[in-house]
Formats: sequence, C-alpha cells, structure tokens
Amino acid sequence: MSEYTDCTFETRLLHNKFKYDKETGAVSLPIHHASTFHQADPEKFGKYDYSRSGNPTREALEEIIAELEDGTRGFAFSSGMAAISTAFLLLSSGDHVIISEDVYGGTYRMVSQVLTRFGITHTFVDMTDLDAIQAAIQSNTKAFYIETPSNPLLKVTDIRAVSSLAKEIGALTYVDNTFLTPALQKPLTLGADIVLHSATKFLSGHSDVVAGLAVVKDPELADQLYFLQNSFGAVLGVQDAWLVMRGLKTLHVRMQHSQETAGKVAEFLSSHPLVKSVYYPGLSEHPGYSLHNEQTAGPGAVLSFELESEEAVKSFVTNVKLPVFAVSLGAVETILSYPAQMSHAAMPEPERLKRGITNSLLRLSAGLENSADLIRDFEAALAKQAAASAY
Ligand SMILES: *Cc1c(COP(=O)(O)O)cnc(C)c1O
Repeated sequence: MSEYTDCTFETRLLHNKFKYDKETGAVSLPIHHASTFHQADPEKFGKYDYSRSGNPTREALEEIIAELEDGTRGFAFSSGMAAISTAFLLLSSGDHVIISEDVYGGTYRMVSQVLTRFGITHTFVDMTDLDAIQAAIQSNTKAFYIETPSNPLLKVTDIRAVSSLAKEIGALTYVDNTFLTPALQKPLTLGADIVLHSATKFLSGHSDVVAGLAVVKDPELADQLYFLQNSFGAVLGVQDAWLVMRGLKTLHVRMQHSQETAGKVAEFLSSHPLVKSVYYPGLSEHPGYSLHNEQTAGPGAVLSFELESEEAVKSFVTNVKLPVFAVSLGAVETILSYPAQMSHAAMPEPERLKRGITNSLLRLSAGLENSADLIRDFEAALAKQAAASAY
C-alpha cells in the first residue's frame, strides 16, 4: 500500500508510487518499448523477462488501477472485451453463468455465441429482481455477471446482495464498472470478486485509445487471472497503457463535470413533451434511485431516453450540432449513440426489444461542454422535430 492511502480519491489519482520516475525524476513515466529484457544472471532472471508476461509501463497502470479500485492486483488488456473474455476463461466447460439481461452487446455476443461452444451455459436475468436471480441458480452456477448501472437502460443491481448470494453457492461475482469507474463505485468493497473495465471509456476519457482492465482482491484469484492474461496474451501495449495513465489523472474532474451536465440534461429531457421517458439513476423517479445512492457516490454521466418513434430519433440525430454521433461513451466530447444499431447491434432484434432496447431509444454520454450549450442544442433539435410533425 502506498504512502498516500489516507488521501482522497482525486489526490490519489495524481499522487501514487508512479508520480515520478525513480531513476530520472521525470514526472511523466517513461514508456518502456521493450519486448524483452537482458538477463544478467544465467541462473536467476530479473523481475521482467518478456513483455507479454510483464512490462514496467503496463505494470504501473495495473498497480494504479488496483489501488483505485481497492483491490490487490490489476491487469491491463488490449480492449475491454479482452479483459472480459479473459476473465470468463476462469470458468470451465460445464459451468453456468447468470448475467444481466441488458448487458453490453459485445459481452452478450461472447456469452451467447462463444462460451456456449466451450460448454459454458448462461441465463440472462433481470438483475434488479433478486427472486429472479435466485430462481436462475443451477447446481453448476459458477459466476454472476453484473453491469450496474446497465447498458443502455441504466438499471441498478444490488452488488452486495448478488455478491452474498454468489458466496453462498461458491460462485464468483463479476462487475463491469465501465459506466461509473472507481470515482463513483467500488464493487470490490461491496463484495464483488472481479471488477472489469473498458478503459476505452471514462478511465482514459479522450476517445483516443482502446483498452481494458481487470482488478481483483483475492491473491489466489489474482494468480489465476495473471496465468490467464499471460496464457491468452491479449495484453495492453505500452503506448496505450501510458495514454490510460494520462487520462486517469483527470478522471475525477471529468466525472464531476460530466455528471453534473448529465443531471441537467436528464432534468431538461424529462420535462420535454416530445421525450417519452428518460433513464438516469440520478432522477428520483428512477426505480433504482435509492439503491444506487446507497452503493455509489453518484449517478454518473450516461443516460438514455426514448423519443416518440424511430423517425423522431433520426430527426434528432440529424438536427443536433454538438454531440458526436458515435459508438462509445465516456469521453471529453458528448457522445450520442443509437444502441439498436450500435452498442447492441450484436443482439438479435426480438431479444433487444424484449429488453426494452427499442428503435426509438438514444443513449447520451455527457462530455465537458457547457451544459447550457448542450441543452440549447437539444431544445432546438426537438423544436425542429415538433415543427416537422406539425405539417
Ligand atoms: C465499451 C464497453 C465494453 C467493451 O469494451 P471495449 O474496450 O470496446 O472492448 C464493455 N462493457 C461496457 C459497459 C462498455 O461500454
């Protein structure tokens, strides 16, 4: 543990073991572009031998994220999906997974089309319903996989309750913490075993890198995951590890600003007559509002909303000027996306509709723009739509 553990989260983003390079004093960590390392002794190898197995730049990021998540060990992967897929390799043929029904599209694809070929079965459940989770448990259930808030409907799952259910039957609890980051939610402190991240999103925050992270607390689980990281080999490159570390330094201020904006946008949208519904755990009418408040330090910067029709969605997307219309979230620029054809395109339409991910749903990830500018932009786009439908 570092000498800064008594400091607050935002201070520890800057002050950790890696605040300067021990050798030169450089306040930006050197990028070690080496694939291999000279061994001074033929009998005894040094700490590093080959970069898939260990690299000082990647290791710095791994230690930083482990500390921020209150874990003991972190692992950096070439994408969020690489982190998630490698963590699934902890399971074996014959095992069963209980998983959030409105999980990220790529995770849905991995579980439903890849793991099944290796004899790992699954049940998608509404994780807000503890009875439904209980009912889905089988004698071979070995893992619970949670996204909270979920993507894209921002449903809230009780991490503590699911983790204790998992412990009772000797199963692992995985939590995808991409939407909130340790700035707002620390699943390991609530009983989860493995925290996963698409570091592509808020952690790096600038839409310039694809990366994934995993963090665990239990040393034995850490050894197993390290073995899999090295065996499967989907490690993060050093340049990208450096970019994630740079992004992390501003995580707190970015999250605070984006979250405040998301709250204002959610209020604006929920009072607009052309918006059918708004999904955001910061709104008191959200069904998971109080549970979310209990287990997190804030509602985050992602919300979704439903317009009247698919036509209305097209018109809105065409008429807004500020947001980037793109796949992804968690960046300095506000990102508007269309789950039906983007993040959840991998989900067959009937499955998608069953989960409430309709063709008139949009997802918004608030960036660092001024919130009044964004609201004015949205107001104008909705007004154009109202004018068009008046004809
Ligand atoms: C983007 C995302 C992923 C996948 O991460 P990649 O870095 O794109 O591989 C997983 N989970 C959530 C919640 C995401 O938003």
